[in-house]
Amino acid sequence: AVKPERRRLKAPARPDTAEFCPGFKDVDAFVKRGLGGVVAATKASGLLPQAGDEFDFYRSFPGFQDFCAVQGERLLHCMSQLMQHHGCRSFMKDRSKLTGLEERFDLVIESNDVILEKVGIMLDEASGVTRSQPVMPAGYQPPRIVVSSWNRKGNDHSGETFHLLHAKNIQRPQLKFKEKVDNSNTPFVAKIFVKPNAIKPLPSCELTERPEDLDVPPALADFIHQLRTQEHMDDMFSHPYQYELEHLVMPEILRSRPDPQLYKPLAETSCTFIETLEDLVALNEKLAKTTEFAVDLEHHSYRSFLGITCLMQISTREEDFIIDTLELRSEMYILNESFTDPTIVKVFHGADSDIEWLQKDFGVYVVNMFDTHHAARSLNLGRNSLDHLLKLYCSVDSNKRYQLADWRIRPLPEEMLKYAQADTHYLLYVYDRVRADLFDAANGQSNLIQVVWSKSKDLCLKKYVKPIFTEESYMELHRKQKKSFNSQQLVAFRLLFSWRDKLAREEDESTGYVLPNHMMMKIAEELPKEPQGIIACCNPTPPLVRQQINELHQLIKQAREIPLLKVSEVLSGFILCSSESTLFGPHDTSHVSESDLMELSLQVILLFLLKEDEGVGNSGHLTVAQQKACSILESFENPFRMYLPSKDIHISKNAKYDPSTKIYEISNRWKLQSIEKQQKEAQAKQEAKKQAKKAKGIYRLEVCTPAGPVGPIKVSCVVGLIFSVACGSWKPAHCRQEWDEARLKRINLRIKE
Ligand code: AMP
Ligand code: MN
Ligand code: ZN
Repeated sequence: AVKPERRRLKAPARPDTAEFCPGFKDVDAFVKRGLGGVVAATKASGLLPQAGDEFDFYRSFPGFQDFCAVQGERLLHCMSQLMQHHGCRSFMKDRSKLTGLEERFDLVIESNDVILEKVGIMLDEASGVTRSQPVMPAGYQPPRIVVSSWNRKGNDHSGETFHLLHAKNIQRPQLKFKEKVDNSNTPFVAKIFVKPNAIKPLPSCELTERPEDLDVPPALADFIHQLRTQEHMDDMFSHPYQYELEHLVMPEILRSRPDPQLYKPLAETSCTFIETLEDLVALNEKLAKTTEFAVDLEHHSYRSFLGITCLMQISTREEDFIIDTLELRSEMYILNESFTDPTIVKVFHGADSDIEWLQKDFGVYVVNMFDTHHAARSLNLGRNSLDHLLKLYCSVDSNKRYQLADWRIRPLPEEMLKYAQADTHYLLYVYDRVRADLFDAANGQSNLIQVVWSKSKDLCLKKYVKPIFTEESYMELHRKQKKSFNSQQLVAFRLLFSWRDKLAREEDESTGYVLPNHMMMKIAEELPKEPQGIIACCNPTPPLVRQQINELHQLIKQAREIPLLKVSEVLSGFILCSSESTLFGPHDTSHVSESDLMELSLQVILLFLLKEDEGVGNSGHLTVAQQKACSILESFENPFRMYLPSKDIHISKNAKYDPSTKIYEISNRWKLQSIEKQQKEAQAKQEAKKQAKKAKGIYRLEVCTPAGPVGPIKVSCVVGLIFSVACGSWKPAHCRQEWDEARLKRINLRIKE
C-alpha cells in the first residue's frame, strides 16, 4: 500500500540531496525506522507483567509502582501529543476530566479511528480515488477490496483499488443470517433442539394446561399449575448439559503421564477452510473418531449488539481446520456430537468467553474440556498467555497482532488465516507438555491434572447471560464512572442510557458504537441547550447520534426541566426492584399511582432503618402503610447480609474465582491493596467511627425521587454507613405477592450530614 505514495513522492523533480524529512533519506528509510520502533514497543509491552495475579504481585513493590507512575505519565504525555497533532480529543492526562481506564481506552480507539480514516483518505488520494462516492444504484457491487500488508512488497495490483481494512468497508454479516438475532430484552433461551450424548433428555417444550379437570379445589389446581409452570421455566433457563457435566468423571487417559507427541511442522500441515455444510459434516465425522482435538474462536463485538462469532479453528494431531462460522452459523450445532462426547477431550486455551460464544451463537456445548490456561496457572509459569506457552514449549514467536482484528472480513486475508491456524495448531502438543509438567509437579500423581480438569468442567457449566436492561441498569454504569451528578444530570444520563440501549438493540450495534460511555457522560454533564452542543460533546460524532440529534435534544430538554438539586455527594443509588421485572422488562405500574408508590417505598425504607437501628418496638404507633411495609419487610432477606460477618452464610469456594460473583469483585479489589494500606484504612475507618459516635451520629437523609426530593429524615450514622455500601439490588425472598402489589420503584438516597 505504500507503493503509490512512494511513487508520487519520488517522481517529481526533487534533487537527490533533498531529504524526505529531517534525518530520513526517503520514505523507505522512514518506514523502516518506524516499523522497528513499533516492533520493539510491541515486544516490550508483551514482556510487562500480565494483568491479574502477576501484576498485583509486582505492584506490591514501591519501586515498581514508582516506575509505573513515571513511565505511565510519559506515555500518556506522548499519546496526548500525538492525538493533538491529529486534532483528536486528548485528555489522556487530565485526571479530572476522565476517570476510568475504559474511557481512556475509548479515547484511544476513537483517535485510532480518526487517524486510520485520514490515512485511508490519503492512500485513496494517492491512488487516484476520490472519497466522495456517488449514491450507488441498488445491486451495485462496490470495488473489490484488496488487502495489503504494510511491510510486504506488493505484487502489481494495478487497476485495483486499495482500501484500508476498515469496518466501513465490511458488509454486515447479520444480513445473511438465516435466523434473526434476538436482541429483545428477555433472558437468553438455549438454542438447542437435539441433544446428542444425552443421559438426561431435553425437557419437553409443551406447557401443561391448568389442571381444571383434576378433582381438586380450584386453589389447589392453580397451585399445581404454578408449580408446573415454574418447573418449565426452570428447565428453559437451565444448562442443557448440566446433568451430564455434573456426572462426568475424569477420563482414564488423563490419569497417567503422557508422552508428548510433537506437532507437525506448520508448513506441512493441511489447513482446510470450511464453508459448506457438506464439509462441516465430514469434519464432524473426522472429529468423532479422535480422542482429542483443539478449539479456538474469533469474535467480533463492535458492530453488533450481542457480538458475533466469526471463525472457529480446530486442530487434530494431523490437520488444521478453519470454519467460516458466519456462513455456517445455523449449522454449527451438528458439532455438538463431538463437542459433547464425553470420551473426546476438547482442548481450549482460556475458554471463558469461548464457552459463552458457542452457546450464544450456535447452541454448542462442551463436555470434557481441558483448558491449558488453567494448566499454566497451576504450574505457576508466571505468565499464562498462549504466546508464552508457545514460546516456552514450541519456541514459536507468535504475536497477537490480529487478536483485535475485524474478523468479519471476507475473504479472509492470507495473513489472518495463518494467524488463526497458529492459534490451535500447537495446542495439542502444549496440552501434552503441560500435562507432563503437572504430573511431575505433583510427584507423579494426577491430582494437579484433576484440579485443572475440574476447573475446566466448571467453565463448561457456565451459562451465557444476555445483557438485560432494567430501569436500574444505568446506575451500575453511573457508579463505575464515580462522578457526582446533580438531579438533572442524573436524569439526562438515565434517559441517554435507555435511548442508547434501545437503539443498539434495534439497530443491532454495540452500545459503544451507538454512543461511547465517555461521550454519554459528557452530554449528561454539560446538558447542552442546543443540538449543536450535543454534537460538540462527541468527536467524532457517532452516525446514530447525528441521525437522532432531535430525539437526543428532546431528552436533554426533558432532563433540564427536572428541579435542580445541588447535593454534596450522591452516595449511592439505592435500588428497589421486583425480581420479575428485572427479568421481563419495565415495571407495570398501571394500577398504582406514583405517589402511592412513593409513600409505600418510603415507609419500607424508614422501617428498615428503624429495624436495623433501634428495632421496631411498638407496632401500635404504626400507620396502615407502615404496618403493611413492616410485614413485607419481615419477608425480606437482609440486602446487607453479604457485608456482615458470615455466621451462617455459605459462600462457595469457587465463587471467589468466578468473575461473575460479587465475592470475586470484592476480593479482587482488596487484593490490589497492600496490607499496609489496608491496615491504614482500617485505622482511619475506626477513627471515623469514633468521631461519628461523638457527633451523636445523626445524619439527615434526603430521598430524591423522580418526582422530586422527599425528606430529610434523621438516621443514625451507622445506618448511613450501611447505606453507602448497599449498592446492590434488594430482592424479596418469599413475599412475591405483596411485593408485586407494592411495585416499589427506584429511589436514590443521598446522605447528608
Ligand atoms: P483469542 O482467544 O486470543 O483467539 O481471542 C478470541 C477473541 O477474543 C478475539 O477474536 C477477540 O474478539 C477477543 N479478544 C481477545 N483478546 C482481547 C482483548 N485484549 N480485548 C478485547 N477482545 C479480545
Ligand atoms: Mn480463544
Ligand atoms: Zn484465537
